Amino acid sequence: MPAATGAPPAAPSRAGAGITADKPGKRYLVRKLAARPGTDHPPRILVIGGGHLGLYAAQRLQQRLPPGEAELILAEPLTHMTYQPLLPEVAAGTVEPRHVTVPVRPALPRFHVVTAEVVELRHADRTARVRLIDGSERDLAYDHVVVGPGTVSRTAPVPGLAELAVGFETLGEAVFLRNRVIIQLALAASTSDPAVRRRALTFVVFGAGYAGVEAVGELSDRSMDAIKTFAELRHEKVRWILVEPTDRILPEVSPALGEYTANVLRARGVEIWLETSIASCVGGRVRFHGRHAGDVVEANTKVWTAGIRPHPMLDHTDLPRDPEGRVLADAYLRVRGTPGAWTGGDCAAVPDLTCDEPGALCAPTAQHAIRQGRRLADNLVADVRGPQRNGPPKPYRHRYAGSVMGMGRMQGVAEVYGVRLSGTPAWLLHRVYHWLMLPSGAGKARVLTDWIFDALFSRDISALAELQEPHKPLQTAARAPAPSTQTA
Ligand SMILES: Cc1cc2nc3c(=O)[nH]c(=O)nc-3n(C[C@H](O)[C@H](O)[C@H](O)COP(=O)(O)OP(=O)(O)OC[C@H]3O[C@@H](n4cnc5c(N)ncnc54)[C@H](O)[C@@H]3O)c2cc1C
Repeated sequence: MPAATGAPPAAPSRAGAGITADKPGKRYLVRKLAARPGTDHPPRILVIGGGHLGLYAAQRLQQRLPPGEAELILAEPLTHMTYQPLLPEVAAGTVEPRHVTVPVRPALPRFHVVTAEVVELRHADRTARVRLIDGSERDLAYDHVVVGPGTVSRTAPVPGLAELAVGFETLGEAVFLRNRVIIQLALAASTSDPAVRRRALTFVVFGAGYAGVEAVGELSDRSMDAIKTFAELRHEKVRWILVEPTDRILPEVSPALGEYTANVLRARGVEIWLETSIASCVGGRVRFHGRHAGDVVEANTKVWTAGIRPHPMLDHTDLPRDPEGRVLADAYLRVRGTPGAWTGGDCAAVPDLTCDEPGALCAPTAQHAIRQGRRLADNLVADVRGPQRNGPPKPYRHRYAGSVMGMGRMQGVAEVYGVRLSGTPAWLLHRVYHWLMLPSGAGKARVLTDWIFDALFSRDISALAELQEPHKPLQTAARAPAPSTQTA
């Protein structure tokens, strides 16, 4: 067990979230965790990130390791895990945002949950530096670490992009897009200027991976449905353009399913611009490189889903990484050549043992992250208990079973064990699969209720624009002249 280090003392305050009182008024969790566990103490396991990899690994760890056998800590900046594969349905308005989240504290009763982001990992010292919600930083000491902070959007140095486009990785972005589509229809309906209307009714999505294709699939369907409720837009069409630098969509799935999905979208009127990339995006005007060089598209809404990169916190670790910045994992989900460190999910380069191609890696999908989480936990338990008590660890091996994607109401595409489906059967399969994969029983019940209401009633097209500006009503009220105290 590593020796004790001197960590900065934590302020004994109950105020900051993430500083949980261990014994009220006496010891506080973050201060306690700064010190090394003693040799007589069970090993301390720190899980970084409560997403697909982290939450599933943590649930398995708490299930398999009783309190005397390990001390369990989760560091996660959010209070919940987000089931990302259902974000397109959140953007489409068929599922309520909260229903695709799992609050981490009730899900992990055996864990000390620290609401904080890890900003640095010095694995050589077995120490993680965390930033709490109040901005203060503390060290946490551990024996084993599970690294799963996922990825962030890969942006490009394109003029105007960061200011004008929105990503599609988070719940906030999905809710924003849900509202945005309706607000743009309302804007188009309220203007007599054809140029303003055209800009409002044009949506450009960059990147044709899972996120981009499902965003276009769900949102184009929603917008084409919603426009029917605007009498002023009877003769108008919503224009959706999906822009992709390579020669195919959906690199995560087989080429045949990619082609199949492209045909489904084209039949709906979505334009797919392959071998095209963005050149600039200034003042609402989008210009392109590649096949569509010279074209200019005026659009109020630009959605950026063109790739992901490993989380930037990994730059502040001493873990080995590949040229893409992913943490190098072995087949057992251990960080290569680094005892006590474990990884998986989108931030990691995990060998794909089911593929004959040398150096093949697991694709960055929830399908892998969830299964890797469970396998990683089992291997970690084996490591803690030793081969005599537990048997040897097992390599991670999951053969790609296929993919399912929702493309709007009663429409989907799927490929399962080589069988391709489209339309209602694929849509049903997509819903059943993701419903089964949702990590909490309460979430399952809520999502099912959303789907039942969506099937029974017409879609809710309220934009809830005020969510984006909660201070505006009070500010407007404060600016208004005070009423006269005299009454008639
Ligand atoms: C719109 C969309 C649709 C998708 N659809 C599908 C699909 O249909 N099927 C499929 O298989 N996959 C799909 N995916 C991909 C899938 O969601 C990812 O592969 C999966 O989320 C990866 O899991 P992860 O645990 O690596 O990362 P995440 O689930 O993103 O978890 C990372 C966690 O780490 C936390 N974190 C970040 N920084 C820190 C830090 N510094 N310290 C501590 N914690 C931190 C985050 O808050 C987060 O909770 C989709 C993705 C998107 C965006």
